[in-house]
Amino acid sequence: MSKELASKAAGSAKQAQVNSRSVATVPSVRGMSSSPPLAEAAYSPLTPITALPNKLDPADAELKTLIDNNQAWADAVTKEKPNYFKEMSLKQEPKILWIGCSDSRVPAEQVVQLGPGEIFVHRNIANVVHHTDMNCLSVLQYAVEVLKVEHIIVCGHYHCGGVKASLGTTQFGLIDNWLRTIKDVYREHQSELEAIEDTKVRERRLVELNVVNSAMNVASTTIVQNAWQRGQKLAVHGWAHNIEDGLINKLNLTLRDNSSLEKVYRLF
Ligand SMILES: [Zn+2]
Repeated sequence: MSKELASKAAGSAKQAQVNSRSVATVPSVRGMSSSPPLAEAAYSPLTPITALPNKLDPADAELKTLIDNNQAWADAVTKEKPNYFKEMSLKQEPKILWIGCSDSRVPAEQVVQLGPGEIFVHRNIANVVHHTDMNCLSVLQYAVEVLKVEHIIVCGHYHCGGVKASLGTTQFGLIDNWLRTIKDVYREHQSELEAIEDTKVRERRLVELNVVNSAMNVASTTIVQNAWQRGQKLAVHGWAHNIEDGLINKLNLTLRDNSSLEKVYRLF
């Protein structure tokens, strides 16, 4: 990763401003003004907001609540748009690939208010993009070459358990090997990170640097560079979601070609 780019990106970038909108209206994605607005979703609403973080009754061993919820949702959508599911079954044309953390508090569709058919999603612990991860690479290849998404968003989040764990010495098992990549990011930016005295601020910065690293790894793939070389419209963005206020912090990182990659990673 280019250190210059990493220092430009993220940092104390200002929080995105709150756009007040109801959950029933669907949106273009903030900061993508150069692209045409996304089509209005043909349904509403998204999952309703509830006061309790966990509605599942521990006695509901058969997960009846979930099946009931699903039935109610399908009924409501069908009532409003009788052909919605039929039309949805015919194709998908998402414009966005989201690469995020598996954390249950950062549901991709919900935080950007997009619905079924609008966002292709890959999530893993701490939104790590590794150049040998066949799962992530397969999602990326399909999204870019078949679906022809126009935006790839790598979205990390503050208070990320994976990033927190990578800062410590406690062992959690197999996952420690996955998180090793974040330790590599730490090592690469060790002097910057260790100059930050407040451990919470240091952790936030590592969240951002991990996003930058993942975004640069996305941009370094043959998949993305070949797309750029053949003139395909494709941007790679780095974002961090703040669980404390629900807002996305757009890190100063959007790649539209391979010019920001270090020379050794450039394929054309
Ligand atoms: Zn996380």
